[in-house]
Amino acid sequence: MVSDRVFGKLFINGEFVASTGTDTLPVIDPFDQSVIAQAADATDNDVHLAVAAATEAFNGEWRETSAQTRGQILWRIAAALRERTEELAELETRASGKPIADSESDINDAATCFEYYGGLATKLQGDVMSIDGAMVMAVKEPVGVAAQIIPWNYPMMMAAWKLAPALCAGCTVVLKPSEETPLSIMAVAESFADAGLPAGVVNIVTGRGERAGAALVEHPDVHKIAFTGSGEVGAHIMARAAKSLKRVTLELGGKSPNIICADANFEAAIDGALFGIFLNSGQMCSAGSRILVERSIYDRVIEAMIERVKDLKIGAPMDPETQMGPLISQRHFDRVRAYQELGKKEARLVLGGNRATGPGLDKGWFVEPTIFADVSNESRIAREEIFGPVACVMPFDSDDEALEISNDTSFGLAAAVWTRDVFRGLRFTRRLRAGTVWVNHSQPAPVEGPWGGFKQSGLGRELGRWGADAYLETKQIYLNTEDTPIGWP
Ligand code: NAD
Repeated sequence: MVSDRVFGKLFINGEFVASTGTDTLPVIDPFDQSVIAQAADATDNDVHLAVAAATEAFNGEWRETSAQTRGQILWRIAAALRERTEELAELETRASGKPIADSESDINDAATCFEYYGGLATKLQGDVMSIDGAMVMAVKEPVGVAAQIIPWNYPMMMAAWKLAPALCAGCTVVLKPSEETPLSIMAVAESFADAGLPAGVVNIVTGRGERAGAALVEHPDVHKIAFTGSGEVGAHIMARAAKSLKRVTLELGGKSPNIICADANFEAAIDGALFGIFLNSGQMCSAGSRILVERSIYDRVIEAMIERVKDLKIGAPMDPETQMGPLISQRHFDRVRAYQELGKKEARLVLGGNRATGPGLDKGWFVEPTIFADVSNESRIAREEIFGPVACVMPFDSDDEALEISNDTSFGLAAAVWTRDVFRGLRFTRRLRAGTVWVNHSQPAPVEGPWGGFKQSGLGRELGRWGADAYLETKQIYLNTEDTPIGWP
């Protein structure tokens, strides 16, 4: 399955090429710790070659490629993803440990993202104004060469969220996937030429953040950086990018509240609470990791959650029945385990709290779905992003209190509220300080809508027309319509 033609290489100027260096990074299956491939650890020189290819493509054929043609290319990439779903989902699952059913769904969502931006390409438009005898046009133009740096938790979807709007807008790209999950997007690159994508428009450099990522951020010919990942690295990138005033958009972490009111549809709210924190083993930026429950149903909600988690199928990611797989890496496993132990000191453990054991789980980085009750919003487990299947449950007595707790965080990516009272739900939507507020749902991120964070959860928006705007400059063209002297002095 793992093809030597593609893996271990870099994708530069339409070719799979060897790195100019010799370092490699193992890609490890989180289920059994086996090494499934070696990825190239790109050097500064490789990054330079990739940026040069993107620059040449931007100044050449791609600039003259019509929006209609760009749209058709995006649709063909989407079609390739759909045709290759089985193969790509397997690569995704092997590298990330994500259950295969989730990977299939992610490939579908990634294809939908390419289709959406294929359609949007012909609908990007500027404006025209008539001002004092002049016609003033506001014209949209691509920013130029975009560097895109993405994490490991949704590798294909994150790649699609980055590549599709950039190509829609007419940019060229150098993409750096996470060191843990470089395989699926490298495999997709095999379909680019057939989709009609000219050489150099998309380049992929695999490798370490502090080397290939940093070289991209520093490169003088990169005009824009789109980053998804941790706040710590995001802040570092923003500071480095400031030196050359690059455009920067950041999609960072969260500690999102999930508010369950007593009048909610109880079953739906329990579904939402569990899905919101245990999907993808809790490795979600928008995880509903703080579950706020109205006091009159507090005990009932905790009991129902515990009961329902018992049915959650933890196991081999390639098993189609599996709902929760292992964490991504030893390092991340250690981190989540440390938070489980910390939580035992800070709050009341009601479920899990340990490494997950059982048949077939011994070699994988599995942890138990964990629920802490009576969590103080001041505790570290309530304030820091754990990025694992660890729920912090806390009671509230009034909507004002729920809002105060919800907004008392440095993050602001998402929030959910469960109520059957439409006006109560609307009041919450107005006052919650988050980029996305779900009412009676958890985790949908439709490609048509905006996605991004308030406060330390990010800068800028992805998806929808906002996602394309992030790759566009607005140029003013001023046409004097009067053939007369302009009056100097
Ligand atoms: P990370 O910040 O460690 O790494 C993200 C990417 O940045 C990787 O490709 C890495 O190689 C690269 N990188 C690391 N150091 C770098 C440097 N000095 N210069 C340039 N690039 C560098 O994050 P992660 O552990 O891969 O992902 C988890 C984080 O991502 C979580 O905080 C999560 O909330 C966040 N996330 C956010 C969203 C969103 O939409 N807001 C989506 C998914 C994940």
